[in-house]
Amino acid sequence: MRLPEKESSFMSTAQQPLHPSLDQIASCVSGYDPDALPVASAQQVIRSFIRPVDSVEKLAIRAALDRVLAADIISPINVPAHDNSAMDGYAIRSADLDDKDVSLQVVGTAYAGRAFSGDVGPGQCLRIMTGAIMPPACDTVVPQEFTRDGNAQSVTIPAGVVRAGDNRRFAGEDLAAGSIALAKGKILRPADLGLLASLGIAEVPVQRRLRVAFFSTGDELRSIGEALDEGCVYDSNRYTLYGMLRRLGCDIVDMGVVRDEPQALEEAFRSAAENADAIITSGGVSVGAADYTRHMMAKLGDVCFWKIGMRPGRPMAFGHISSGGRGAYLFGLPGNPVAVMVTFYFFAREALLHMMGASPAPLPLMSVVSSSAIRKKPGRTEYQRAILSTAADGSRSVSITGAQGSGILRSMSEANCMVVLHHEQGQVAAGDMVDVILFEGLL
Ligand code: AMP
Ligand code: MG
Repeated sequence: MRLPEKESSFMSTAQQPLHPSLDQIASCVSGYDPDALPVASAQQVIRSFIRPVDSVEKLAIRAALDRVLAADIISPINVPAHDNSAMDGYAIRSADLDDKDVSLQVVGTAYAGRAFSGDVGPGQCLRIMTGAIMPPACDTVVPQEFTRDGNAQSVTIPAGVVRAGDNRRFAGEDLAAGSIALAKGKILRPADLGLLASLGIAEVPVQRRLRVAFFSTGDELRSIGEALDEGCVYDSNRYTLYGMLRRLGCDIVDMGVVRDEPQALEEAFRSAAENADAIITSGGVSVGAADYTRHMMAKLGDVCFWKIGMRPGRPMAFGHISSGGRGAYLFGLPGNPVAVMVTFYFFAREALLHMMGASPAPLPLMSVVSSSAIRKKPGRTEYQRAILSTAADGSRSVSITGAQGSGILRSMSEANCMVVLHHEQGQVAAGDMVDVILFEGLL
């Protein structure tokens, strides 16, 4: 169970003493009740308690995809560098335009990357390609297809086809030199790599990857390859956690299954605290007789135990534990396979992103018609697995994937979204609008 020693560069704010304590933070949350805690209050406590890990590395821009930017990137240049043409056509002086057709003399051609060096005088124009530098005297581009009778010597501009300033891109209109091109905390997406390349930037500072250790607890759990004794189940949580953590870009330490036994649990928690920035466990946080996890967590640090007003989910532990002078944030998730995923997405995900130094926007909700009635009591948040579909006429609707038991992982696998039924919300009638969170994003 012992893991390799954490490298010295892994020392981080996550291991420093934390102030204030969970009790102090909880006392600032109005109506805080650990035995009936609304989702939003639990998220508020977590957000106030978490501190980002402070350690930076420099990476070539391709390697920085999906990583968190550790400093503002200031544009060293104007993008585009010069005023240039947005179209293939003719660069003209708008003073030459008239309310009747005008014929202009063509003095040459400007190509992208090959500027025209001469002057464009009154009554003259320049054939110009998209991206070519605008001659200083010209302020407007007439697209090729709007012109008539063009040849090497002259071209006719029909009346009214352009206004002054049309089809000209200004130097710096994408980004001005000295302005912030990308802000610290941004997770770098494909567009950002392109933007960095457009500035000629080869390397960027990014936050180091977060190291997250996880293990499953429960005597009934078997790992793949082991015989499934009577009453036992294969451990699936370590696989969903693996997938979710990898998608977040974490370095992961899979510590396997830990028996419901105090000494094994203590050893696992200590080892994880010494070797990771965050620990995620599943199972053992309810009040079942064999759930030693709670006692062990409480013994090793500042941990609170919540019954959250949500479904699935409910029992969850959160805090910070230490061992041997090192420490890690702790997320004690429930054991049921769907509850693990839901509590990960709605509590651990944002917290881990904050630890990574990211500034995550709230998960985007989409409002869609519910194709059937959904039973729901006010006073808790429900996350129902669902399928969002688009009919032949383009209209969208969402339907729940049948049984919503928190152990039914198949319906999570079949779903492409979750319907979020908010804390105060009551019954949903067929045809009502509901909020959904999609599982897949584009970027
Ligand atoms: P617990 O929270 O430990 O009481 O577990 C609740 C339920 O989830 C029990 O039915 C467990 O067998 C099941 N469970 C706990 N951990 C896992 C796991 N890692 N993989 C699959 N099922 C689990
Ligand atoms: Mg258990």
